[in-house]
Amino acid sequence: MRSKLVVGNWKLNGSMAGNEALLKSLLREIPPGGSAGCAVCAPYPYLAQLQGMLRGSGIAWGGQDVSQFDQGAYTGEVSGRMLAEFGCRYAIVGHSERRALFGDTDAVAADKYAAARRAGLTPIFCVGETLEEREGEHTEAVLARQLDALLEKQGAAGLEGGILAYEPVWAIGTGKTATSRQAQEAQAFLRKRVAAGDAAVAAKLPILYGGSVKGANAAELFAMPDVDGGLVGGASLVAEEFVAIWRAAGAA
Ligand code: PEP
Repeated sequence: MRSKLVVGNWKLNGSMAGNEALLKSLLREIPPGGSAGCAVCAPYPYLAQLQGMLRGSGIAWGGQDVSQFDQGAYTGEVSGRMLAEFGCRYAIVGHSERRALFGDTDAVAADKYAAARRAGLTPIFCVGETLEEREGEHTEAVLARQLDALLEKQGAAGLEGGILAYEPVWAIGTGKTATSRQAQEAQAFLRKRVAAGDAAVAAKLPILYGGSVKGANAAELFAMPDVDGGLVGGASLVAEEFVAIWRAAGAA
């Protein structure tokens, strides 16, 4: 039985004062040992603040990306070891915004996954199709291509200890959520593809759904058998919404 997990992705948002207020609100509502896991992924400069405020709490934290390199002449990069030094448990990898805006290819996303694992982090590997790809009935082909880049490098057994996130690009930040059926179909497809390589790893693999998750739609999504929680952007910036999503995960 896989437990549920809700991860907030703050994206390029936050300030020391704003984060403090948000985290205090979350800490009041999300205790250690809750029935669903909880984490927030913040911009790098705020990781020390998260470490200071969240240590020993029921809320873990992580980075929104990680370098594929461990060290060296890579200006602007942040390594997995650096994230681990700030207590990060998670690193988001291959988010569609990184893929579309910053040139992260399938291969780079897979290399970042490997780098996160080398540092002892849990990578959250994002995949998802654009609206054009869905309308052209290419969803499964796109998911297969993105996942296969990871499977080729890691092998199915190498997905143990990692997390997948199905994030249809057309649902991210648009207010247009995938139906629970669409999410279930895509996530069952991903699990089956991993299972072809290693059924035991696939059975344990958490697969999150991301794309306009809110308090109002979380319960229906999380009731799906292959939806193991959510990766939450906009709603993770609003304490009541994020707490409602986390509660829905705990009740699912
Ligand atoms: C995301 O950024 O991963 C995301 C799912 O964003 P939103 O919840 O705002 O759609």
